Amino acid sequence: MKVIRLIRLKKFFWVGLFLSIISSVLGVIVPLYIKNIIDLKNIFKSTLSLSFLSKLVTILVLQTVISAMGNFLISREGERQIADIRNLLQTHLIHLPIPFFDNQESGQLSSRVINDSVLVKNFITGVVPEFITSLITTIGTFIVLFLLDWKLSLLIFLIFPLDALITIPLGNYEEKLTVKSQKSLSDLTGIVTESLRNIRAVKLSEAEENVLVKFGKKLRLLYKLSVKNEAVYAVISPIQSLVSFVLIVSVLLYGGYRVQQSTLTIGSLTSFLIYFYQVIGPINTIADFYTNYKQTKGAVAKIIEILHEKPEKYIVGSSKLKISKPYSLSVRNLCFSYDKKMVLEKVNVDFPAKKKIAIVGSSGAGKTTLVNLITRLYNPNAGSIMLNGIDSKKIDLSQWRSMFGVVSQENYIISGTIYDNLVFGLKNLPSNDEINNAIKIANLSTFLSSLRRGVHEIVGEQGLKLSGGQRQRLQIARAYLKDPDFLILDEATSNLDADSEKKVSLALKEVMKGKTIIAIAHRLSTIIDSDKIYFLDNKTIAASGTHEQLLRSVPKYRNFVKEQFLKTNISGKES
Ligand code: ADP
Ligand code: MG
Repeated sequence: MKVIRLIRLKKFFWVGLFLSIISSVLGVIVPLYIKNIIDLKNIFKSTLSLSFLSKLVTILVLQTVISAMGNFLISREGERQIADIRNLLQTHLIHLPIPFFDNQESGQLSSRVINDSVLVKNFITGVVPEFITSLITTIGTFIVLFLLDWKLSLLIFLIFPLDALITIPLGNYEEKLTVKSQKSLSDLTGIVTESLRNIRAVKLSEAEENVLVKFGKKLRLLYKLSVKNEAVYAVISPIQSLVSFVLIVSVLLYGGYRVQQSTLTIGSLTSFLIYFYQVIGPINTIADFYTNYKQTKGAVAKIIEILHEKPEKYIVGSSKLKISKPYSLSVRNLCFSYDKKMVLEKVNVDFPAKKKIAIVGSSGAGKTTLVNLITRLYNPNAGSIMLNGIDSKKIDLSQWRSMFGVVSQENYIISGTIYDNLVFGLKNLPSNDEINNAIKIANLSTFLSSLRRGVHEIVGEQGLKLSGGQRQRLQIARAYLKDPDFLILDEATSNLDADSEKKVSLALKEVMKGKTIIAIAHRLSTIIDSDKIYFLDNKTIAASGTHEQLLRSVPKYRNFVKEQFLKTNISGKES
């Protein structure tokens, strides 16, 4: 069973299960004592019966203590189980490659980690142990019953299956309902998460009503499913009671008759009824097992599906390659497609150490994609990326990524404080001096001194309390602290007003010192001084050279510059 592979049970679970089994066995013995006590003549005068009574009390106390201990050990293991599964899932998820996340909703994934793990835990440490102890109680009880009086036992055997005739089809129906309920529950979670995360977009698009309508639809669906589910429960439980009632009455009638005939003792009849009461719960548990199993199977399948996704390829085992600096990077015949859509074809670019290399091209040309391939967020379909002539595939992924600092048009700001953002991911915490230096270089000093808590000010979700320029400069400060070999600037100054851009550019100048720069820009001023410019057009590098060379000899580039950099005159000086 797949569940088993997901779970690593500790020895306390087995001790707990063992205690629960002992408690069930004791439970089977108790009614026999009662029979013996009742069947003794002159119960209260006999010293023998007193010893029986004290034994009975001892067994009952023992059973209660053992059962409590068993329950506790199993539940404790259950709590550990939830923590383990959540940990396993989150650890696995965080190491999955970016293409996996391109096709997933984060709300649904959170639901796997938070909700589905609970279902699995309930099954392993609730349903399964209960099933085992119930099975023992039921089998033990029936053996004893048959030994006591096989005719009376047969009566029970004949009536009990009536229960199953009704509950099994209802259970199957309920299973289908559960699958649907879970789906709509995670849809509902998705809508809530999504709308709150994008609350600004919701308000600015006046989409409140739309969101609520969508939410309401899912809510009603979930409500209907839940009501149906409750209806099934509502029907099952009285049916079970009815069957039990019919059974008790039959046992009493037939048993009473047998007592009158003196072929059955009153003690036996009493213990029969006690046994009977004792076994109803376990029998229902056994009947419910199938439904529970099916429910869990759905959740487990989804969890296993995630666990089967292959994590990013780190190079495991081999120690870090010693590659001597300075580093130069070269991209060779790189091809890449998202799903079936070709984006890059046979791209060749060189990034010699300490040079500034720019990649330009119209929006959607694939510049960010190229950067994502260089940082190995995606794997190319063909071609290679080399570091000092060594294929990137031979180099450990974390070693690889430690070479890059990225200042991007994407908003790579995490919630928390400015300080949290500055040191995010750093292996060694920087000193106060280094932090102050980074702040100065990133041109953040004035801004920070205006804040009451300075560097410990909270930036809000995705840094929403910061302006675009402040966010960029925070990324620059972060890149400065990381001190990478390659600094990637992916439209780092896009979406900024002239003043912010000036501040960001100033900050960048300092950080860029001594580094290899991979610059993508839509403003000419940021790339005009590049050592070489690669012009990405029609999925490949159409031309390369200095700005002047390209202007002179590539008409398409000239047009591109005219269109893209309207604010600048053709020589690149901002007007
Ligand atoms: P640029 O940075 O040059 O503006 P991108 O590299 O971001 O261009 O995008 C190149 C093309 O790939 C675009 O057509 C874009 O729609 C597509 N694209 C980008 N990211 C993804 C993705 N995660 N999944 C599918 N298509 C994508
Ligand atoms: Mg881009």
